[in-house]
Amino acid sequence: MLDLLQLYTGFPFHKHLDDFDFTFQPSIDVKKIKELKTLRFMYEKENVIFLGPPGVGKTHLAVGLGMEGIKEGKKVYFINSITLVDKLKKSFYERSFEKQMRFYKALDLLIIDELGYLPLDSEGAKLFFELISEKYEQGSVIVTSNRSFNEWNKIFEDEVIATAVLDRLLHHSTIINIRGKSYRLREKQKSGMIRLDTSKIIDENAQN
Ligand code: ADP
Ligand code: MG
Repeated sequence: MLDLLQLYTGFPFHKHLDDFDFTFQPSIDVKKIKELKTLRFMYEKENVIFLGPPGVGKTHLAVGLGMEGIKEGKKVYFINSITLVDKLKKSFYERSFEKQMRFYKALDLLIIDELGYLPLDSEGAKLFFELISEKYEQGSVIVTSNRSFNEWNKIFEDEVIATAVLDRLLHHSTIINIRGKSYRLREKQKSGMIRLDTSKIIDENAQN
């Protein structure tokens, strides 16, 4: 069956905030999530950053907030960071960059997933920065990342661009730093099949 919601929003799955088990992830301040659920951040054109190791629910919470936006008739779009940068580059070479930008600018909420799994080259980093600058105070952006902020210059391979991106993203933002175990691995860990502690993957000194 054609999934129209998925087609229009790019959501990788249909998950709601109510489906999230907060008792499994005690490092999350539930008050912050409740505040985000009011969507005030979207009306104020503020941003949200989810940081944490794999499997802790970053994408789930981002999609959950996106779902709340859809319910209010907001324009929401979800995209993986690598796909996003590839599209920006392609449009740049095909001279349709302005058109691409208009699409992203018109969104109430742009969710950029998995920033930092792979580094961006200098061209990709510049185009990414341009997008973030365009969205600054014009519309909300949610970013999920497995890298703490002091590692972001490794993502952009350029400290000046990393600082400029962070400056705009963080100016009006809520940061949810999740330090916990992977939900994906919980069953396997319970049964003793896996003993890997993924909570150590993110920098312990990440600021909240
Ligand atoms: P991340 O983006 O941090 O790698 P995901 O959000 O993709 O993690 O979560 C992995 C899977 O586990 C998803 O299917 C998600 O719905 C589920 N999940 C993660 N954390 C929870 C939780 N606390 N309660 C319920 N489901 C969760
Ligand atoms: Mg994810």
